Amino acid sequence: MVAIAPTDAMSSFEAVSWFFDQSARRLGVSEELQELMRHAWRELTVSIPVRLDNGKVKVFTGYRVQHNAARGPYKGGVRFHPRADLDEVRALASLMTWKTALANIPFGGAKGGVLCDPGSLSQSELNRLTRRYTQNIAHILGETRDIPAPDLGTNAQTMAWMMDAYGQLHGYTPGVVTGKPVELGGSYGRDAAPGRGLVNCLEEWASLTQFPIRGAKVVVQGFGQVGSWTARLIGDLGCTVVGISDINGGIYNPRGLDVQNVLAYSLGHGSVAGFANANAIGGEDLLELPCDILVPAAIENVIHADNAHRIKAKVVVEAANHPTTPAADLVLGERGIVLLPDILMNAGGVVVSYFEWAQNIQEFRWDEERVNQELAVFMKQATRGVVEMAKHDNISYREAAFSIGISRVARAIELRGFV
Ligand code: NAD
Repeated sequence: MVAIAPTDAMSSFEAVSWFFDQSARRLGVSEELQELMRHAWRELTVSIPVRLDNGKVKVFTGYRVQHNAARGPYKGGVRFHPRADLDEVRALASLMTWKTALANIPFGGAKGGVLCDPGSLSQSELNRLTRRYTQNIAHILGETRDIPAPDLGTNAQTMAWMMDAYGQLHGYTPGVVTGKPVELGGSYGRDAAPGRGLVNCLEEWASLTQFPIRGAKVVVQGFGQVGSWTARLIGDLGCTVVGISDINGGIYNPRGLDVQNVLAYSLGHGSVAGFANANAIGGEDLLELPCDILVPAAIENVIHADNAHRIKAKVVVEAANHPTTPAADLVLGERGIVLLPDILMNAGGVVVSYFEWAQNIQEFRWDEERVNQELAVFMKQATRGVVEMAKHDNISYREAAFSIGISRVARAIELRGFV
């Protein structure tokens, strides 16, 4: 296959496949195997009729894409979002395949989505929506088949409803979802895990490359589960958070923000916008602030060909899934901006999900200290692998991360002997 120059007109799945193709070709993976690994092995689209609080019935559309299960059961989050269309879910499922392989945990890759605006639905509407979605995809789920988790717009409560709906059909099966509330078999530390894992990776990368992490100024886009925990924990490395945004706006203080106070304000007001002791800043402008480390932790494609020239950070740390388009990736690379890729940096969530799943199956529990210690082991090991390969092969960190993931999946397919 001939390589094409990437543009921002690519769909999400085309963009992720562009990164996949780049590494698979470099590794010399055969065309046939590339074809098998590029595409999802199963895609399910379901209609989800839900009676709203006003008595009317609304039919939502939901998806579950199972991308690859060569290395273990399918694993991946479920997002409730107005743009959770099939192409986006397919792209995210593919990323999960390379992420679980890179983290070296025994899972494949999947993703789910429901096209909806969760903010406009009541808790009882969300409960009914989640139950019906779960019932409609339950025949392809299971603790040895496919294990969902939270993502954008979903949380521990959503997982509790999913576990309950699945259990009504198949009996008590806590290991069918991860990211559950601790009271229902969730793991201590799962909430913080994507942010904590990111900080583990950043610490290891900075130490391996002698990057001056202490005193680094950090900007975080997105203040949900991933962004807020990243902002809270990154101070442990001696960094200062100077900018934070969410969907309603951003705040900036070059002398530093008190993240705990921002969190308390945001919980009380539903947004960071309006926080005192900071300047207001628009979401787009926030990405272009002068800083050492930029952490996009919200949604996809926020760094694109139009703004990549204006990014002033020295390092972009991808906390969200595919926040950088392939075209922007090339621009950042040409400008010498270091990019630490999503499939490495946000893998902490699925690593602790793996711990949760293993604990559920064996009916035991680790304390939070043990979870955090084991998480650091996985994240630092994966980081070392990526840094070593990038240096040895003179490639980007993203290419190295994809290459490690793809090699492991290709090997599993060969060993299983199904091609
Ligand atoms: P979340 O719903 O908890 O939070 C999302 C945050 O982003 C919110 O603060 C929201 O206001 C903000 N946001 C949304 N659109 C924005 C915009 N246009 N500009 C600025 N801010 C915006 O979601 P999350 O779980 O934190 O997920 C964030 C990203 O991290 C997603 O890409 C998700 O796929 C990825 N991720 C999540 C997990 C997890 O375990 N939750 C794990 C790995 C990766």
